[in-house]
Amino acid sequence: MGILDEDIIKVREATDAVAVIGEQVALRRVGTRMQGLCPFHSEKSPSFSVNPNEGLYYCFGCQAHGDVITFVREIHHLDFAGAVEWLANRAGIQLRYDSPGATREHQRRSVLTAAMTKAVEWYHTRLLEAPDAGPARRYLRERGYDVDTVRAFKLGWAPAGWDDLCRSLGVDADVLADAGLAFKSKVGKQIDAFRGRVMFPIFDVDGKPVAFGGRVLPGGDGPKYKNSQDGPLYSKRRVLYGLNWSKEEIARTGEVIVCEGYTDVIAFHRAGVKRAVATCGTALADEHMARLKNFARRIILAYDADAAGQGAAERFFAWEQRLELDIFVLGLPPGADPGSTGAEELREAVASARPFLEFRVGRILDAGDMTTAEGRARAADRALGAIAAHPDDLVRDQYLMTVADRCRIADADRLRVRLDELRRTPRPVNGARHATVEGPADRGDDDPSPPRTRTRQPEPPPRSVSHAVEIEALRLAVHRPEQVAHLLEPILFDDVVHRAALACLLDAPTLGEALERADPDAQQLLYRLAVEEPDPETEADDVIAILVRSAAQRAVAAIDVDARASQQIVDLRWPKARMEELADSALRVDAAAQLVAWLCRAGEEGA
Ligand code: ZN
Repeated sequence: MGILDEDIIKVREATDAVAVIGEQVALRRVGTRMQGLCPFHSEKSPSFSVNPNEGLYYCFGCQAHGDVITFVREIHHLDFAGAVEWLANRAGIQLRYDSPGATREHQRRSVLTAAMTKAVEWYHTRLLEAPDAGPARRYLRERGYDVDTVRAFKLGWAPAGWDDLCRSLGVDADVLADAGLAFKSKVGKQIDAFRGRVMFPIFDVDGKPVAFGGRVLPGGDGPKYKNSQDGPLYSKRRVLYGLNWSKEEIARTGEVIVCEGYTDVIAFHRAGVKRAVATCGTALADEHMARLKNFARRIILAYDADAAGQGAAERFFAWEQRLELDIFVLGLPPGADPGSTGAEELREAVASARPFLEFRVGRILDAGDMTTAEGRARAADRALGAIAAHPDDLVRDQYLMTVADRCRIADADRLRVRLDELRRTPRPVNGARHATVEGPADRGDDDPSPPRTRTRQPEPPPRSVSHAVEIEALRLAVHRPEQVAHLLEPILFDDVVHRAALACLLDAPTLGEALERADPDAQQLLYRLAVEEPDPETEADDVIAILVRSAAQRAVAAIDVDARASQQIVDLRWPKARMEELADSALRVDAAAQLVAWLCRAGEEGA
């Protein structure tokens, strides 16, 4: 399936790249470009640059680069069509597709989203106004929820009747069923999926409602929480409750707090910590983490992360390594949950979050009987078992020293021997563990494109002066084409990538089209140049003169070598005289033009 080209163009034109990128990266203007901390690798000083006029970005740290569609793809883990849809939705553009099936699926989603939006409003109004919502309002008030909170999170009330929503919404039965709002009973009667519950609408990252969580009032029927099932709009392994409200603060601070429930998220928001999200009735999954790592590097777990056991611990370490994250645990006392903790304590608990392994080892040692030698040895052994799961030996050794210290074991080497044994002993194989950790990696599993690797590249080798001049000439060709384009020819460039980049620039009417035509190396270079600026002191004529001189020198040397080899005499006085004229400011523009023409002719003859 494909989106019509003209619609893609429409979306590009309607999109303000700086606004889209600025939602994820705090951008600061530096000269004519914008700069910020790269969202694709961790860094402390900004090497991520945006060219606002062209809507292009380039990171000098990890070489991530692209246009606004690439950015949305990478940040939100979407394929190309998904990113265009995301931007179209943002710009309010209705897309058309080249296959009727795709158009239908897309239209279906819009219909379902519209029904969900109506349902959110309907439940919300019921909670605010309906007499039968009195107990729900009282319950929320008792929990400290004022009307502002109810409005901010669009909380609602699903009345206890069988089909109040179905009858009121005026939406087709199959739409209600696909949206998870209603189902058919055995006798064929349509029944509301949520009845007699306080409703927490769940929004996707863009703020579109995709699901609901319903909490029964104390003393009510059924399980305490009921969540929408996965369906066309909703996948619980992907959606994080609260991300739509929290994403800005998460991106700005590089930190996200992951809770277990809606009310915990709301508690953090009310405490002024607006960077909390929750999984909805499921454990943290690969897909959640892949999404979060686009926003933050520091993940603070606000629940008893240790209770899930060894398998969960190994999964955390795997995420830390693979996604370059740091996983912390909120500093709350055991048994306390964020939903019933005061604002001040919550803020302190965030500030005192500890690395996951530190938390885990600390808990084991705290639980041990440290008054006897036997107790200390047992505690040490258990703690080593937890440490053994960590993949980094430097990290392991630091925790090992903590254990030696707290268990009063003078010879840390004995613990090292024990730790080695534990590492070598194969743990019981847990099939699920591998399935989760090494699953579809950090991309959406419906993304058909090959994985985009972005391994950090080694430092480039030192470059020659002519290399620097070639780059400056290309930079001018990107930013001030009117000054240089007429004099630049690919033959002036020694480096093949530079030559290819220039050829694309000369051939295409716009930088965007040049980028589309370029091969990957030339493309990356052009993205970089697009966010760089030519030195304001640079005179285009100087750069051209140096460039032409080195190209002419190379050509003269090559002709000379050929002539010697074939024992012929070649007269090179003319190019050499023009090369000398390059030093004369009155003659150099002319000389450069003549030499460029000569080089092109010589190039053609040589070829
Ligand atoms: Zn980067």
